[in-house]
Amino acid sequence: MASIELERVSRRFANGTYGVRDIDLKIEDGEFVIFLGPSGCGKSTTLRMIAGLESISSGDLRIGGRSVNNVAPRDRNVAVVFQNYALYPHMSVWHNMAFGLKMRGVGLEEIDQKVAKAADLLGLNLLLQRKPGALSGGQRQRVALGRAIVREPEAFLLDEPLSNLDAQLRAEMRLELVKLHRRLGRTMVHVTHDQVEAMTMGDRICIMRDGQMIQTGRPLDVYANPADIFVARFLATPPMNLIPAQLTHADDKLVVQIDPTTHVGVPPKHYAPYVQKAGGPITAGIRAEDIYETQARPEWQRISVKVVAVEALGAENVLIGLLGRDKPIEIQARLGRHFFAPVDSIVDLYVDTEPMHLFDTETGKAVARPPLPAGR
Ligand code: ADP
Repeated sequence: MASIELERVSRRFANGTYGVRDIDLKIEDGEFVIFLGPSGCGKSTTLRMIAGLESISSGDLRIGGRSVNNVAPRDRNVAVVFQNYALYPHMSVWHNMAFGLKMRGVGLEEIDQKVAKAADLLGLNLLLQRKPGALSGGQRQRVALGRAIVREPEAFLLDEPLSNLDAQLRAEMRLELVKLHRRLGRTMVHVTHDQVEAMTMGDRICIMRDGQMIQTGRPLDVYANPADIFVARFLATPPMNLIPAQLTHADDKLVVQIDPTTHVGVPPKHYAPYVQKAGGPITAGIRAEDIYETQARPEWQRISVKVVAVEALGAENVLIGLLGRDKPIEIQARLGRHFFAPVDSIVDLYVDTEPMHLFDTETGKAVARPPLPAGR
């Protein structure tokens, strides 16, 4: 059993600042959890506290139900894989993988078996005699994983393990880690600032900012229901469009008024939760993929946009345009690959407002409403 529980866990540094503060989180046995957030938000500090490499200033940390606040790293039965691999350059792949076991006094036969099994799992069989200097980045990363696997830890802690790899290898290793998790069935905590990794790899993501956990949940649930503006923008490329507006209530309709010439209607099914904000400022959140170049449904809302640029990505075109006349705001829309419009032209686009979110302009928090199903 290796559930990992953090109860009001904080890390205060010698200079009096906090790396993380009052983190509450329960990671289930066998779960694959991602810590996601911008650089400096406290992801590594949290991971390092779980590993025992960073001391806990207050709160309680339990692994497998046992409080480990004062347990040495080597007695926690967790393995850390670092971004820089931390391999011994003068040792062969075999020796790198065997080293930890040797230090623990494991017999040679058992070491050989375990290294062979891990090498098999990771496709390293033919590289066992090589030194790290003669390996590619991806192969080195596999050796670092192999070194963790041979220890048969209850939990794997992965600290940005893919960030030194090029885009293609990253995509391959992403998939390999997911497969590895399935095969090993062990708890994994993976730290990243890459939202694609976060969306695709884990059972659950924990989004962090300024030493706090802002939101946790299944990736698509969080994507469909961001708790605030920060999560909404962080979890998408291009980021969610955030449009300052007034929420007005007239003729029994609820309308997001962007400026005197531009508005979009709120879908009637969302009137009830949103009407309390009528008559005041609001920030409307519209995802780039909820804006279309044609009106497939009558309820989609037409907007006029002045084209600033069209980024042709092959599979799609990302339009960057200005919405509203008085104080135009820049928005982005993911449009079909056949879309084209010249710079400075005005185009009509259509917004599917059902997944639109309204955020409190002052606090940035999403105005509560029944959650959207994942994928919506
Ligand atoms: P992340 O992994 O999300 O990039 P970290 O957990 O490494 O962030 O760091 C969180 C915050 O704590 C950062 O602002 C960092 O500068 C700060 N920090 C990390 N280690 C120390 C330390 N030993 N003393 C003071 N501040 C630190």
